[in-house]
Amino acid sequence: MKIGGLQKVSLIDYPEVICGVIFLQGCNFKCSYCHNPELVEPKLFGPCLEEKKVLKFLASRVGKLDAVTITGGEPTMQKDLIPFIKQIRKLSFAVKLDSNGSRPDVIKNLLDEKLLDFIAMDIKAPLEKYKSIVRAPVDTQSIKESVKLILKSKIPHEFRTTVVKSQLTAKDILEIAKLISGAKRYALQKFVPTKTLDKKLLKEKTYPDDELEKIKKRLEKEIPSVIVR
Ligand code: SF4
Repeated sequence: MKIGGLQKVSLIDYPEVICGVIFLQGCNFKCSYCHNPELVEPKLFGPCLEEKKVLKFLASRVGKLDAVTITGGEPTMQKDLIPFIKQIRKLSFAVKLDSNGSRPDVIKNLLDEKLLDFIAMDIKAPLEKYKSIVRAPVDTQSIKESVKLILKSKIPHEFRTTVVKSQLTAKDILEIAKLISGAKRYALQKFVPTKTLDKKLLKEKTYPDDELEKIKKRLEKEIPSVIVR
């Protein structure tokens, strides 16, 4: 496992639960707004944490943390993800996975083996805009397939979109809502220009709150829980 970082406690990465967060190194997308460039850009990779030590730390947190969130980078790119999650579950933690949804085969295995308690999937854009936003080859059928698997699984889930004003219009966001029709929870994540993969984005303005609120109201006609954060 290429473990790029460990956050020992978080109150915001798993809804209503206290969790630890494991950051995995490597991603197949290159979203310009990515706020974890050190997990995406190989030349920025730091030394990996030892898997054994991370598991030992988690064992010491049994009874203090409820869950572990596995994020990235893109976790589904790690070949040992499934055995790693099995070890975390042996410690009785609930597991949340954050994914960009590009590897439905891995998501399917995780769901079939009942290894996840929560899954959060990024929806980057309407399908026809995907490639320009993720700046990498992408099979949009895989994105659709992952959405379908998550909706079918019935486990608690969240779809979320980072909204960058110059990249996504209100119409685009409403298009995304059609793609996740049946979702229980959708989060619009306001892009904050502090740390980005593409430095040009640092000059980008954030989406105005009033515009996001209007979009939220329209989304609430289709999706039970819509969050702006
Ligand atoms: S935002 Fe997520 S999917 Fe995009 S480059 Fe960063 S880690 Fe990868």
